[in-house]
Amino acid sequence: MKLPIYMDYHATTPLDPRVLEAMLPYFTEKFGNAASRSHAFGWTAEEAVERSREEIARLIGANDERSGQPDGKSIVFTSGATESDNLAIKGVAEFYKEKGNHIVTTKVEHKAVLDTCKRLEKDGYEVTYLDVDRYGMVDPDAVAKAIGPKTLLVSVMLANNEVGTVQPIAEIGKITRAKGVLFHSDAVQGIGKVPFDVNAMHVDLASITAHKMYGPKGVGALFVRRSKPRVRLTAQMDGGGHERGLRSGTLNVPGIVGFAKAAEIMRLEGKAEAERLVRQRETLKKKLTARLPEVHLNGHPEQRLPGNLNLSFAYVEGEAMMMAIKDVAVSSGSACTSASLEPSYVLRAMGVGEEAAHSSIRFGLGRFTTDEEIDFVARLVIEKVEKLREMSPLWEMAREGIDLTQVEWAAH
Ligand SMILES: *Cc1c(COP(=O)(O)O)cnc(C)c1O
Repeated sequence: MKLPIYMDYHATTPLDPRVLEAMLPYFTEKFGNAASRSHAFGWTAEEAVERSREEIARLIGANDERSGQPDGKSIVFTSGATESDNLAIKGVAEFYKEKGNHIVTTKVEHKAVLDTCKRLEKDGYEVTYLDVDRYGMVDPDAVAKAIGPKTLLVSVMLANNEVGTVQPIAEIGKITRAKGVLFHSDAVQGIGKVPFDVNAMHVDLASITAHKMYGPKGVGALFVRRSKPRVRLTAQMDGGGHERGLRSGTLNVPGIVGFAKAAEIMRLEGKAEAERLVRQRETLKKKLTARLPEVHLNGHPEQRLPGNLNLSFAYVEGEAMMMAIKDVAVSSGSACTSASLEPSYVLRAMGVGEEAAHSSIRFGLGRFTTDEEIDFVARLVIEKVEKLREMSPLWEMAREGIDLTQVEWAAH
């Protein structure tokens, strides 16, 4: 077993070797510009791009209604999900501004959605940020209640990147479709791991990125529904009119080919992989909770990403814990918003207390996680948590039955 161990698969994933293999020819002999219509180099690249569109459409159920075949044209390639989220939300807001000015989203979305909404608020749009329950789940009824005559778009993520909670996308899609409001989903974390079908779930726009599913970084896609309803967007990038005018810029052909290979592998192997990950995740959880008292699960117990285990270890600072388990790459609820030491806004929205948020650790399991690594991490975490708690006066007081909420501290 090699150290350090990677357990941060929500942040990014390593490239699957099969993806790299598929990409390589497109850096060298098949280097053409997919927009070059006048020669074979361009045609080869364009063909690869069109095939890739279909493969990605197939993974998310973006089938043409009449033919039942994957609708490649509904896939717009971007630089990643941040750009896809921006294009979806700003694109709809601008295109339909005569119709309304209201957007509905949730408090637990990725920053790419939240900061885009904040920008729109500065430009005069109104945004409703829905609460979630203690499991991080949004209530479809709350979505229905928030929709008014000026609402243009509802944006709810498929699965949360911190706590792994999977949102009731199908129920929300039913509501938005019935009310004639467009529905965007940042589907990055859940693609290939939990059920997602844009037609069955009435999703009109969906953001995806390759590097969260064993593809390369810097390439993503936005699914844009082409019929019933046909979604219109204002482009955010002007230029050569690539991607049907929705996203100008020379296509990253090797990246797109790799993205499609990653999508194909997910389509064929995702289900079996998810089952294995659930087993490994539950093993890790059982090992830790069997030995350590006061360990709490963050996120939904069942409706969660297979590879996500987010735990709060009471009386242990997440930062201290990460230092103590340096051989394991994980994230903490106090570090999730990059450099700041603010507790995670996702945990806060779920009503998790500040202490518990600061003591949370996200274990992200993925394709290359082994049973041996699970055993190693469980042993290491148990050892370090016991040690850190031994050094904690608060832990000692709590053990002695002192109610810490009743203690009057001399200085803070
Ligand atoms: C990683 C992530 C993004 C951003 O994707 P990039 O391709 O890195 O821009 C957006 N949303 C979610 C839920 C993510 O996990």
